[in-house]
Amino acid sequence: MPNQVIKKYLKKFGTPLLKIRERFRRQIYTKPPKRISIEITNMCNLRCSYCPRGIGICRPLGIMQMDNFVKLINNLKKYEFDQIDFVGFGEAFLNKDWNKMAKYMFDNLKAKRIFFTTNGILLNEENIKKLASLPFDAVNISLNGVNKEEYLKINRADMYEVVVENIEKLISYLKKYSFLNKVKVYYIQFISGIQKEEEINKAKILHQDWIKDVPVKFSVISYSNWGGLVNGPAVWRNKRYPCSHLYVPGIAWDGNVYACCIALADGDNDLYLGNIFENDFLSLYKSEKFNKLGQANLSGTLGKIANKCVKCNAWCRVDNIFYKIPFTKKWL
Ligand code: SF4
Repeated sequence: MPNQVIKKYLKKFGTPLLKIRERFRRQIYTKPPKRISIEITNMCNLRCSYCPRGIGICRPLGIMQMDNFVKLINNLKKYEFDQIDFVGFGEAFLNKDWNKMAKYMFDNLKAKRIFFTTNGILLNEENIKKLASLPFDAVNISLNGVNKEEYLKINRADMYEVVVENIEKLISYLKKYSFLNKVKVYYIQFISGIQKEEEINKAKILHQDWIKDVPVKFSVISYSNWGGLVNGPAVWRNKRYPCSHLYVPGIAWDGNVYACCIALADGDNDLYLGNIFENDFLSLYKSEKFNKLGQANLSGTLGKIANKCVKCNAWCRVDNIFYKIPFTKKWL
C-alpha cells in the first residue's frame, strides 16, 4: 500500500485507537511511573507572564552537578520509561554540562521517548551542533509569540528577534548538515489560551518556510495554570476524573522528587515524596505518603490532602486514563 494511504488511515484511526488504549490502561500506583521529568537547573533567563517564575514564585535556585546527575541516572536505570522530559522549571542550556548529562542519560536509561525543551535564547551555533548530535525524539522551542510586541507581552523580554534568528540558524544547519542531525523533530511551540488562534495561524503562514525540507513542525500546547499559581485563561471540564499527572513526577536539580511535575514550580510539600539522592526511586512509590495520594486521587478526594490540586486545571489537559467498572464502581 502506498505510504500516503497508510498515513491517511493512521491519521484517521490512530488517535481514537490511542485514546481507547489510554482509557483502558491500568494505573498501578505502587509501581514506578512510566513518565518522568528531569530538571537539571531551575535557573531561567526569562520571566514569562504565564509561568510562576514570572510572578516570583520559585524554589531555591540551583544547578544539578554532574556527579549528582550520574547518581540520579544510576538510581533510575533499572526501570523502563515511556517518556522522559529533559526539562524542569528552568532553561537547560544554563547548565554548562547539559549535553554531557544528556549523553549519559541516552547511554544509560531505557526510554521510548526523550524530549528536550528550550526557550531558544541560547540556541546558538554551538548548542545547535550539540543538540543535533543527540537522539532526542523531540526538541520543543518555545516561541510563544507571533511578533516582537506579543513576545514582549507574553515572555516579558525583548528577545523575539534573537529567538527567530536562532530558529533560522537551526534551519540552515539542518539543511546543510542533515546527515549529522539525530533529533527526530523540532517543534516551534505556541500556547493556546494565551495566544489567539488566528494569530497563531498567521504566524504559521508567515514562517511556513521553516517547515519545508527539514524535520521542523509547529505545535500548539494548551495553557496550564500551574496548580492555581498563575491566573489567566483556564480550560475547565465539568466532570472531574482522577489526575494522571500524579504519576508524572518532577525530579528537581537538588534531587527532590514531587509526585506531580506541576509541583516543581514551588516545591509543594503536599506532593513532595523524598530525595532521590538518598532513596531508591521505587521506595518513594511504595511509601505511605504516595499510597495516600494515589487512593485519594482515585476516590476523588485528592484536593483534601494536596491543596494545589483544588485550583489546578492541568488535570484536564490529559485524557482520563482510569476507568470505573460499571455497577461495581471500582477503578480499574
Ligand atoms: S490536580 Fe494538578 S497539581 Fe494535582 S496532581 Fe493533578 S496536575 Fe498535579
